[in-house]
Amino acid sequence: MERKLPFQWQHNEFREAFGAFLDKEAVPYYDQWCEQHMVPHEYFEKMGQAGFMAMWVDKKYGGAGCTADYLYTVIKAEEYSKRGLNCIFSRLSGDVVAPYIAEDGSEEQRQKWLPKVVKGEVVLGVCMTEPDHGSDLANIETSAVDMGDYYLVNGTKTFISNGMVADALVVAVRTDPNASKPHRGISLLIIETDREGVSRHLIPKIGLQAQDTAEVSFENVKVPKENLIGQENRGFYVLMHHLEAERIMAAYGSIGTVEHSLSLTADYVKQRKIFGAPLSSFQNTQFKLAEMYTEYNLALNFLDNVLLDYMAGKKDINTECSMIKYYTSELAFSVADRCVQMFGGYGICTEMPIARQFCDARIMRFMGGTTETQMGVVAGGLGIK
Ligand SMILES: Cc1cc2nc3c(=O)[nH]c(=O)nc-3n(C[C@H](O)[C@H](O)[C@H](O)COP(=O)(O)OP(=O)(O)OC[C@H]3O[C@@H](n4cnc5c(N)ncnc54)[C@H](O)[C@@H]3O)c2cc1C
Repeated sequence: MERKLPFQWQHNEFREAFGAFLDKEAVPYYDQWCEQHMVPHEYFEKMGQAGFMAMWVDKKYGGAGCTADYLYTVIKAEEYSKRGLNCIFSRLSGDVVAPYIAEDGSEEQRQKWLPKVVKGEVVLGVCMTEPDHGSDLANIETSAVDMGDYYLVNGTKTFISNGMVADALVVAVRTDPNASKPHRGISLLIIETDREGVSRHLIPKIGLQAQDTAEVSFENVKVPKENLIGQENRGFYVLMHHLEAERIMAAYGSIGTVEHSLSLTADYVKQRKIFGAPLSSFQNTQFKLAEMYTEYNLALNFLDNVLLDYMAGKKDINTECSMIKYYTSELAFSVADRCVQMFGGYGICTEMPIARQFCDARIMRFMGGTTETQMGVVAGGLGIK
């Protein structure tokens, strides 16, 4: 189906170059990274050297200056998904977390961090979730007490993507325990992971094996005041401001997974013979694939439209962003499930790429805000209370 996104020759050249980069620097090592439960720091550095990290960053901070051209980020998402590389969270560092610093940080913070993120020398992550506060983000408890020229940070964050590999984390902390409403007492701090009192451990999980997900603890960590992003107690608003872009990008990750599951399955059913005939010749197979390709195209079309609205600066697309975030993640899992069924017993063998798709897709329904959280936003946007 013809895409509505305005890809130009520059984008097409970029797609080719980035795809070739992945074939050389990621695909051959991916199984090993899954076993190690981590994408190594060197990969981010290679991406930086090749000029693929945070391309939107202004040229004065070392970027390519492709500000607001989200098509490059979309292409990266699609090229990763096409190869089943669902675990490489370079976009989290360069395209999701770095914008907090670029848009809401101080000039000193921009100069300090952005060039290093662009080069891949620094990997970033974001810490919102806590063991007792996931969906109810506004009630986080990690404390940052004002000690004059520094904050003293105590608390634990969990399910942190890039948690082990990250050099610095943007951490949501409570700076005003007496705020009139809980979300009004939250601030964002940049915390270097080599600071005394920061400890991390990996969380084993059923999918996204190469994506390091960590629990990060802060015990009497001294964080200089200059590491505060934006104004004190305005952190929640900064997080919300970036949510639309994050949900759109999460949706491109999920829809890419749908496409990859379908392409793996379309190939398989043509090769697999049952009762002396290709599996593809049975009407059930044809109907199921027809149904799933239709769902895929409908979702992709809607997603591309949301992105076009976002790039055009259209306001009030929060509802649509949540709709497409949850819908694509649910579709990724439901399609992977239906595809596994077509592989029969082979579908659950861990060495089969479709099995990996299935496990990875299960997690997408949580990451970046659960389906139920998104549905709450949608219902609110529709005025259903
Ligand atoms: C692989 C992975 C990577 C992640 N990466 C990050 C990261 O980098 N940084 C970060 O901060 N967090 C990260 N998260 C955390 C993720 O954002 C949380 O898992 C998510 O916000 C849900 O929080 P929770 O897991 O505590 O579930 P809970 O909040 O305990 O939710 C439990 C269940 O209740 C449902 N629920 C929520 N609200 C309602 C409601 N109003 N009514 C009914 N049911 C409801 C939820 O949808 C869910 O099904 C990651 C999670 C995973 C799994």
